[in-house]
Amino acid sequence: MTSRDHADAVDAESFDAVIVGGGAAGLSLVCHLAHAGWRGRLAIVDDGDHPHAHRSWAWWGRGAGLLDAHATARFHHLEAAGPTWRRHAPLAPHTYLSITGFALAEAAQAALAELDGGVRVAGRALGIAQEDDAGVVTVDMPRGGVTRLRAPWVFDSVGPGATRVDPRSAPHLDFLGLHVESDRDVFDGDAVTLMDFRTGQRDGVAFVYVLPSSPRTALVERTVFVHPGARGRVRGGHEAELATYLRDTLALPDARVTGREEGLIPLVAHASARPGGGIVPIGARAGMVRASTGYAFARIQRHSEGIARRLVAERDPRRAAAPERWPRLLDAALLRVIRADPDAVREAFAAMLTAHPPARTLRFLDGEASLADHVRIFASLPLLRFARAQVSDLRPTASRRRRPTVDR
Ligand SMILES: Cc1cc2nc3c(=O)[nH]c(=O)nc-3n(C[C@H](O)[C@H](O)[C@H](O)COP(=O)(O)OP(=O)(O)OC[C@H]3O[C@@H](n4cnc5c(N)ncnc54)[C@H](O)[C@@H]3O)c2cc1C
Repeated sequence: MTSRDHADAVDAESFDAVIVGGGAAGLSLVCHLAHAGWRGRLAIVDDGDHPHAHRSWAWWGRGAGLLDAHATARFHHLEAAGPTWRRHAPLAPHTYLSITGFALAEAAQAALAELDGGVRVAGRALGIAQEDDAGVVTVDMPRGGVTRLRAPWVFDSVGPGATRVDPRSAPHLDFLGLHVESDRDVFDGDAVTLMDFRTGQRDGVAFVYVLPSSPRTALVERTVFVHPGARGRVRGGHEAELATYLRDTLALPDARVTGREEGLIPLVAHASARPGGGIVPIGARAGMVRASTGYAFARIQRHSEGIARRLVAERDPRRAAAPERWPRLLDAALLRVIRADPDAVREAFAAMLTAHPPARTLRFLDGEASLADHVRIFASLPLLRFARAQVSDLRPTASRRRRPTVDR
């Protein structure tokens, strides 16, 4: 059976697995299932609220990842800068990669066609319940009616019906990206600027990211680590800061803005949902976003690969998430420092980006560092200030006691 759209179906159907959410995690899992040789009946439900045309994900890899071959942009050099330092270095053995939503969706569509039964369900999941030995996903179909999809395994990147904590009440990355175009060749198409701290720091620990798409075009994005309880925090001024960066740092006062993207990425050092019965969280919901960086794509690939391998071997896919206690502890510590001593965070990033080969720093940020890597990286960090920040964060504050919730 080949893949098919399913928009009109309203009857209950049984599958071997259902994926809820066709974003980074859902689409990646489809690719990994097909690649691993899993041949069950699969449904993937997505509400279409995040069109592929507006999405892309970046990560660093060493060429061995399943989706590395589908990347739509590749960079072999890293740039980073601060007020008093600058680094330009080769990324080898890593490559910085980026994939558009279209390219990922295309790869997933081809993978879906390889399965014995692959179905894309265009609808909004209303809820997921465990009934006897199956997970049941209730889906609101766009042309009316509700359908129920049953499967022994439901991989959930959405959490339909769950009450959510307002992401602004917890640490998050707040960003605005401008797609800019110049009349001159100004961008190095082989170098990604991962972090440039030469931007105003009044609204938090802020840096600019530059991802060229040609010598004349690039995404120039300003990101701030926001800790709602931070001392003296003021509202972000991305627009003004980006205008200054384009004019003064890139010497592009006349750059045309051809598009923009903004958003926020919640930073939590733990998964927002634990596996229960046959319902397995994936993606951001499974805690795949690294709080120290906001990146999740590479981790999502490792998790998807593990799930696929386990399903093929008829083993429990709930155990596919690698235990990452050490990176989680580090992330939790960093979040505390962001609040208590932002200067120490800037110093720590500067040390990581200047005092080490990029490969070591990237392994560290990816949670793949060896013991020796950890020792060397820690030796370069302002550990005393980190320790002081941990202690000062133990004092309760009003903002940490308040936890507003929003429904979605
Ligand atoms: C703007 C932005 C840019 C990011 N860029 C990067 C990056 O470059 N690199 C990186 O490593 N990480 C990045 N991240 C962090 C992380 O990788 C992404 O958040 C990633 O998309 C998480 O994958 P996911 O599958 O959990 O969620 P999503 O990719 O958001 O997928 C969820 C999908 O479920 C759908 N959906 C939602 N509710 C329902 C419902 N009730 N029923 C059916 N479908 C539903 C949504 O429309 C969406 O398609 C970024 C995050 C954001 C917010």
